[in-house]
Amino acid sequence: MKIAIIGAGFAGLAAAYDLKKAGHEVVIYESAGYVGGLASGFKEPRWDWHVEKFYHHWFQSDRHMLGLIRELGWEDKVLFPRPYTVLLDNGKWYPFDSILHALLFPGLGFGLDKIRFGFVGLYLRLTNNWKALEKFTADEWMRKYAGRRVYEKMWKPLLVGKFGPYYQDVNMAWMWARLKARTTRLGTFEGGFQRFADMFAEKLRSMGVEIRLGVGVRFIKRNQAQGLMIDAGGTVEPYDRVLVTTSPNLMAKFCPDLPEDYLKGLLGLKSMGAVVMVMSLKQQLSQDGYYWFNLPKEAGYPFLALVEHTNFVSKEHFGGDHIVYAGDYLEAGHEYFSMSDEELLEHFTPAFKKFNPAFEKDWVKKVWVFKTNYAQPVPLANHSKNIPAMQTPIEGLYFASMSQVYPWDRGTNFAVEIGRKAARMILGKNHES
Ligand SMILES: Cc1cc2nc3c(=O)[nH]c(=O)nc-3n(C[C@H](O)[C@H](O)[C@H](O)COP(=O)(O)OP(=O)(O)OC[C@H]3O[C@@H](n4cnc5c(N)ncnc54)[C@H](O)[C@@H]3O)c2cc1C
Repeated sequence: MKIAIIGAGFAGLAAAYDLKKAGHEVVIYESAGYVGGLASGFKEPRWDWHVEKFYHHWFQSDRHMLGLIRELGWEDKVLFPRPYTVLLDNGKWYPFDSILHALLFPGLGFGLDKIRFGFVGLYLRLTNNWKALEKFTADEWMRKYAGRRVYEKMWKPLLVGKFGPYYQDVNMAWMWARLKARTTRLGTFEGGFQRFADMFAEKLRSMGVEIRLGVGVRFIKRNQAQGLMIDAGGTVEPYDRVLVTTSPNLMAKFCPDLPEDYLKGLLGLKSMGAVVMVMSLKQQLSQDGYYWFNLPKEAGYPFLALVEHTNFVSKEHFGGDHIVYAGDYLEAGHEYFSMSDEELLEHFTPAFKKFNPAFEKDWVKKVWVFKTNYAQPVPLANHSKNIPAMQTPIEGLYFASMSQVYPWDRGTNFAVEIGRKAARMILGKNHES
């Protein structure tokens, strides 16, 4: 078969790997000039490693990603340092990423609240019945079972930060998945995620996969005589099968011939965008060496997370620069999307002093700002009924996106899983359950 894949993110690359191994002709169309999609990175000439545009790490439980890396023979390039994630209480930062740290965290009190926090956490780790949980919003379930104080301190800030105006609509299965699939140790690839994506693309090319970079698809139409026709800026080419791995909105745009029900399903899916600033600094920001600061919106920070990448991996990989991210999940149309890099830096700068009072603007060597409209799908109650089928009603046309990895939260691990699942389906080895 002649198969086209739209998108060279991890879903597209993983699907291409399996389809090529099965002996098919595979062409990847990628509108950007590089592979890696949302997990791609960039590099200054004097850096040895890439920095991800949007902060990225793996969990030890990311078995699809780590399994793929093992298959490729690159497991010696995966590193799992032990960085620290911290939470704010009464103006002080406390490590909060293990059971011991949770027990020591003063923000949850030391009585019944902490016991409830422990039991709820344990229950969610042990149960697999997420379908029962998706009927409830995380807001109502957590308020009821974890208790008001724990909810307000721990879970509400997380929901508000990630989902803004939708925070009360997100279902409890999302929260379950988050607690179920996360570990304290966090992983990365030697050289950064971009290095891994580049190595993977090179491997695919050596197997005979054609990767067309800088070629954006405009339309996909079914022609009775020739099959699926891909129109990519002037050239039109026929394929037997096509897998699209972009956002649901783009899928709807490429394929206006999809039946109305399917299109309505695609366009009905909600998601949040993200704006992330990356800075290279002359000095370390968090002198305690903390990696990830969770920031409650009500504490007045102009962003949701501050992440000091070089408290996770060594600054030596970046010519001694300290790399810091400040980012937020936002609805499309938020003012941050239209602010210039300078305006955003000006807006964020006073907050950096809260992490280190000695911080001065002249610590900043360079700033990059990355924006995306499609960063985080928003799963509403009973969301499993809203997931678009991977096999679309158009014969030979498949769709695999972040919005379909539910109940899991989006991530490169699940991009690999859904890409490989789509490949099995195209090969006729697997039907959607
Ligand atoms: C702020 C942020 C933080 C994250 N943190 C983590 C993390 O810590 N760990 C983790 O594992 N994951 C994280 N993720 C999620 C992870 O990046 C995604 O789940 C994953 O990269 C999605 O892969 P994908 O292949 O499904 O989609 P994408 O990576 O979005 O790939 C789709 C590709 O399609 C291409 N495309 C779009 N339009 C066209 C067109 N017209 N023609 C051709 N190609 C087109 C795009 O350029 C893109 O390369 C994060 C994401 C964000 C936004």
